[in-house]
Amino acid sequence: MRISYSALDAFLICPAKYKFSEIDKIKTAKSKSALFGTWIHETLKVLHEPARLTPATEDEVLSFFTKLWDKSVYSSEAEEMAAFGQGIKILKDYYAKNYPANFHIVNLESYFEAPIEDSGEIHTITGKIDRIDKLADGTFEIIDYKTGKTLPPQKDVDKNLQLSVYHLGVVNRWPSLKDKKVKLSLYFVKHGEKLSTTRSASELKETKERILEIVDKIKVSAFAPQPNSLCDWCDFKKLCPYFSHQFKKEAINDAKIKQAVKEYLEIKEKSKKDDARIAELAEIINQYCDEQKLERVFIDEGFISRLLQGRYVYDENKLKDALAEIGKLDKYLTMDLTKIGKDIDSDNFTRDEKRKIESARTKKEFKKLSVKRK
Ligand code: SF4
Repeated sequence: MRISYSALDAFLICPAKYKFSEIDKIKTAKSKSALFGTWIHETLKVLHEPARLTPATEDEVLSFFTKLWDKSVYSSEAEEMAAFGQGIKILKDYYAKNYPANFHIVNLESYFEAPIEDSGEIHTITGKIDRIDKLADGTFEIIDYKTGKTLPPQKDVDKNLQLSVYHLGVVNRWPSLKDKKVKLSLYFVKHGEKLSTTRSASELKETKERILEIVDKIKVSAFAPQPNSLCDWCDFKKLCPYFSHQFKKEAINDAKIKQAVKEYLEIKEKSKKDDARIAELAEIINQYCDEQKLERVFIDEGFISRLLQGRYVYDENKLKDALAEIGKLDKYLTMDLTKIGKDIDSDNFTRDEKRKIESARTKKEFKKLSVKRK
């Protein structure tokens, strides 16, 4: 399989998103946040262009950004002005901290390929690295610019799959870096913060395993949509079964379904309130029974009883010993299949072990209604 890192990432976010872009090849217009990111990236590329004889000035950088700027993608003047102001601030802050002459740029927007061998088959991960620098001590630094709002914790950067893949790509391009330290950085331009990390040989081996696991999953995927925190920025909302209804006015106005959903929401809400009240009432009744030493309370309309119920809880080891002693351990030893189901996606199994276990399972699917009120 030949697959770009961004396609791998799309699959991890949502298999349906991957299908829309990589299999169905549906082209969509870039969202305004994606365009904003592209303009910042393009400007930073001009700022660090290694072929320049003299370093780019701040004015040149800002005027390049201004020329790229397209007002028409914003829905109001206020929104457009705020976004433009933010872009200018990002670039000014960046320029103040990153005077271009201070860096030895090896490559910008560097295309890479990372081949990964899997029992004779080669899978190739491709991508483009925003920037590669050579530091004073000879270390190569891979830098990826991020224009998102959130600054992740360092532990997430230390596990970041994108950086691990980039490391594999750079080593494939320059094999002499194989046993050398490569610095991996994410530069969060809105915060002016660069978070850096490195990968050990064993972490890179794990990365290859992880990628092969993802490739395995892509091969058998039914590409079901998986709603997630990034749906608001997904370009395929109009096609996605979780959002397409929102875009069809006549469907939203279908009286029958409108009434059914409305009533469902109301009943659900009421039943939640009822459950909470029942718990309060049970507490009052139980307290009364305890105080009065009663197990049944009568009122004119009827009575309410407390029935003693219980269930046995076993000490697992003692139980196993007891069953072994009477020669019936095998008969009652059952596997905890729910636990295996949860563990299979963790790191408790190797890829080969996972494959073997997965070949013994089938997925029983059912649909459950879930409610969200505006
Ligand atoms: S909107 Fe969300 S669930 Fe639908 S395809 Fe996009 S990412 Fe997946």
